[in-house]
Amino acid sequence: MNTIFFEQFLVFTGWQTGVFIGLLIVLFVILGILKKKEILSLSGRLLLATFLGFGLGLIILFVAGMPETPLGIVWIHEVRTWYGLIADGFMALLRMLVVPLVLVSIIRVIVNMDGGKRIGKLVSRGVGLLIATTLIGAIIAITLSQIFGLGTGSALVHSEEEVRAVTSIITTVLGLLPDNPFAALSNGAIIPTIIFASFVGLAIRVQTAKDRKIVQPFIDFNEALYAIIMNMAEKVIGWLPYAIIALLANTIASRGLQVFTEVATFAGIFILSVLIMFVVQMTILALAGLSPAKYIKNMGKALILAFTSRSSLGTLPVSVESLTKNAGLNQGTATFITSLGANGGMNGSAGIYSAMISVMIANMVGHPVDFTFIVMLLLVISLSSFGIAGVPGGIMLTISIPLTALGLGEHFALTAAVFAIDPILDMFRTFINVSGALTASLTVGKSLDDVDVVVYQAEN
Ligand code: ASP
Repeated sequence: MNTIFFEQFLVFTGWQTGVFIGLLIVLFVILGILKKKEILSLSGRLLLATFLGFGLGLIILFVAGMPETPLGIVWIHEVRTWYGLIADGFMALLRMLVVPLVLVSIIRVIVNMDGGKRIGKLVSRGVGLLIATTLIGAIIAITLSQIFGLGTGSALVHSEEEVRAVTSIITTVLGLLPDNPFAALSNGAIIPTIIFASFVGLAIRVQTAKDRKIVQPFIDFNEALYAIIMNMAEKVIGWLPYAIIALLANTIASRGLQVFTEVATFAGIFILSVLIMFVVQMTILALAGLSPAKYIKNMGKALILAFTSRSSLGTLPVSVESLTKNAGLNQGTATFITSLGANGGMNGSAGIYSAMISVMIANMVGHPVDFTFIVMLLLVISLSSFGIAGVPGGIMLTISIPLTALGLGEHFALTAAVFAIDPILDMFRTFINVSGALTASLTVGKSLDDVDVVVYQAEN
């Protein structure tokens, strides 16, 4: 028998490999039927997938006799390689969408900013507050992650990273400028892409003021591209349940149960950061002279919908309705800031989550989380906090941005364990994202005298 063919090309030598590939296919078929017959919604299927992936990983470990180093067993290694086809393949498809999404959506956000007298103040205060609160979220998350040693002493990896030469801040900033935008796009260099997209967007606005006809075809084209990319994103995110089974089973089977301590710590720190962030948001409201208790009452519907739907975009109409009807905020301000918040300045996703993932990976691979790292991280977060899709799991399209920018991109796969419990984290993320956008809308609205305080305070 040609062993090289089986061992190295097919990666299939033991009966266990066949059985577990078969089992994964059976689970996929079951998920497919549940979807086709509309027995379970996407959220339901995600939860089921989490449960199944966990179970499958445990069964693999059990059949192997609970080994301490599972990857030392040939057939587990083979199963992992095969499952990787789905798990790593899914991650690759997500990354495929990042550059087009960032380019197109940033151009779009800038082009679609409405004109008007107070537009300057509205934009600067809205964007400023969203970025500021996102950074507060990141700082809370970095602090808690370091206090609890997130990712340190992890059994997941051994540091293979070489000590990097220290580059000056000037060189770093210069390196972020897109000297060749096409190179930036093809290398997946996100910050140069964001800067290039912003220039394109601003130039379109200037040209629109002079003669809109010339740029209209481009605006339409960009709008069409946005719709196409969002459809692709929806499709890819729709495969999340399948990917979760493979991701989770792989994670558990190849690393043993220890990984769960890691994920449990992550989830604990994450939820604690969200709660602290909520207190910060309420403090900002109180400082603006708006009652937090009334806020919870007036915005309850939007907040609950955010938590359960896991989509800032999906919640948008309800957010606008609650702001205008229950809080007496004017429609323009409400629509502008909540739409901005459904695509960026997300306190939970861009702030807390991205910061935690970056710190965790840095600690896992032994990269120092020092002052330079933190400053770079905050810079990247503020620069890249616009362009996240407000859909379930939307952050996954862009979570590689801070990692890539910090030189940790090659370790992206280490996020798999955390991704495996993403549906749960996403509920908290979206809740605090939407709450951040609502808080920003009300605070900016109050500063511009756009809030009808009588309506805000009224019993309803
Ligand atoms: N689901 C989040 C939102 O819509 C985005 C994310 O963090 O995945 O706000």
